[in-house]
Amino acid sequence: MPSLVLLTGASGFIAFHILQLLLDKGYHVRATVRSQAKADYIEKQFPDAKLEFAIVEDVAEKGTFDKAVKGVDYVVHTASPFHMRAMGLDLLKPAVDGTHGILEAAMKEPKIKKLVLTSSFAAIANVMKGVWPGHVYTEEDWSPLTREQGMEGPAAISYRASKKLAEKTMWDFKEQHKPTFEVASICPPYVFGPVLNEQSMETLNTSNMLVWSCITGEGFKEMDAGYVDVRDVAQAHLLAMEAKGSERYLIGSGVFSTYQMVPILRKHFPELDAKIPKFDESKTTPMDAKSHFQIDNSKSRKLGVQYRDFETVVVDTAKSLIAMGKKEGKL
Ligand code: NDP
Repeated sequence: MPSLVLLTGASGFIAFHILQLLLDKGYHVRATVRSQAKADYIEKQFPDAKLEFAIVEDVAEKGTFDKAVKGVDYVVHTASPFHMRAMGLDLLKPAVDGTHGILEAAMKEPKIKKLVLTSSFAAIANVMKGVWPGHVYTEEDWSPLTREQGMEGPAAISYRASKKLAEKTMWDFKEQHKPTFEVASICPPYVFGPVLNEQSMETLNTSNMLVWSCITGEGFKEMDAGYVDVRDVAQAHLLAMEAKGSERYLIGSGVFSTYQMVPILRKHFPELDAKIPKFDESKTTPMDAKSHFQIDNSKSRKLGVQYRDFETVVVDTAKSLIAMGKKEGKL
């Protein structure tokens, strides 16, 4: 009998890749989505899969996961808002209460061996330090953002705080309630990659929007951050779920700036040259240790995560977004 995995937020950009990987590896999946229409869409993509659904409209609602955890062996909790259309409690509550709720529910299901939480590099990075030359982030780092700062906003600070507080909720819960199951957190920075879930350019997930801005110039700005491919993030969730022990994993390929993304797009998609933003490319800021923080991904590599390089990530993401854009007449 294959193990049953509860995957929350299955309609999301990252979760769809996790779902595909779980099904490919022969797991039976119970997917939570917010509506029957989302379940129907997913079912159509995986017609012969060992897949069932539970409707969870709002992860913050008390007791909402109690039925969904029945009989499951593993939990992968990805559902949490990642957008800049809200701030304060609207981001904090689903992130924190959702994490607390799934842990409380998991305590009631003795079969559960492990719960994997999709946290974020936002829970690790100290945003006040900016590019922090010379610093190498590891799993030991924690964002210093407080609940008060998260409540105050703006949206980007609220989002960062929501991820830090949600992950902290999990580790505190483990300390306090000593569950029989193990836990792990996955902390990726900007996640790019091919879109498999139901999306339009209007509802494009927040991280891929950055690549779209480099393709079209709409909203383009110089920005730097860590990056990783969604397929590598999905693999990390699966490996963490199957591994022994309760661990935190920093998942990232490296650091990038949008100024490095643009020349790659120009090289691979010359037909879009007129749209791709123009600037003096010789002035591109180096992203080395002397001028920018770095990401230590050695723990995740030991776990078995293999990372795609920047050019592959950018090109594969762009192919997917260009196809979507053309279909919608946006290119
Ligand atoms: P998506 O917006 O594509 O996915 C978010 C998922 O969470 C959707 O299925 C959404 O459902 C669901 N969700 C949001 N709020 C609620 C709620 N209140 N109740 C129930 N379900 C809810 O984003 P991503 O795939 O990018 O993000 C997935 C996870 O990964 C999040 O936890 C995010 O913080 C984390 N992450 C993402 C990164 C990235 O760069 N993309 C980087 C680091 C972490 P619906 O769409 O129906 O509203």
